[in-house]
Amino acid sequence: MANPPAIELVPGVFRIPTVGSWQVNSYAFVDDDGSVTLVDTGLRSAPPKLVAGLAAMGKRPADVTRIVLTHAHPDHAGGAAEMERRTGAPIAVHTDDVRYAESGTSPSPDRSSPAGRLFERFAPGGSWTPFTVTDHLTDGQVLPVGGGLRVVATPGHSPGHISLLHEPGRVLVTGDAIFNVLGVRLSPKPLCSDFRMTQRTAQRLGELEYAVAAFTHGPEITENPREALRGYLRKTVGRATPD
Ligand SMILES: [Zn+2]
Repeated sequence: MANPPAIELVPGVFRIPTVGSWQVNSYAFVDDDGSVTLVDTGLRSAPPKLVAGLAAMGKRPADVTRIVLTHAHPDHAGGAAEMERRTGAPIAVHTDDVRYAESGTSPSPDRSSPAGRLFERFAPGGSWTPFTVTDHLTDGQVLPVGGGLRVVATPGHSPGHISLLHEPGRVLVTGDAIFNVLGVRLSPKPLCSDFRMTQRTAQRLGELEYAVAAFTHGPEITENPREALRGYLRKTVGRATPD
């Protein structure tokens, strides 16, 4: 069966898978006036999937008025330049990832891991068409999206990585702070700029209130998501030695 191009999580909040049925996800938030905020733009090849996802929601690229990226990695920022061209929407990125987003290259992976060093040497994080970031985001900022979309800084995976909490819909978009691939887990160390920081900042996601946990890698959790994340963080991250 073909993968659905868009999945509605709660009214006005959609997941748009751009690889398989959930390997790489973008999100779309629809406002009362019909305008759309797109969160993450997938790989460089993702824009046709994003446009198909919008069409399944009854939307056109011209309805997108804002693009927010959780972080500057090629599977999130890869389609940004093309989606900016197709929508005319400004792009928002956390201040600490702006220079990577605008240079079209990922931040360096965690060099404390041999895999990270190898990754850097042989696959330097991938690249994408550079673009200009119009809005520089900061922790705690609430964007006027669907009644309020809160920026929750979760650096570590990248220096300016953010998660997003849609307060009215009670949906948390973890970004790559937490994956739901073969279970809830932290992003693999070689993919992080600073794995210890990833471990520490992920704890923030156990403290928030939400009814749906949505992931940029993996399917959503709609039953007791907070307990699932808290349980994992307590078990795995709770043991981590702080710096
Ligand atoms: Zn990433």
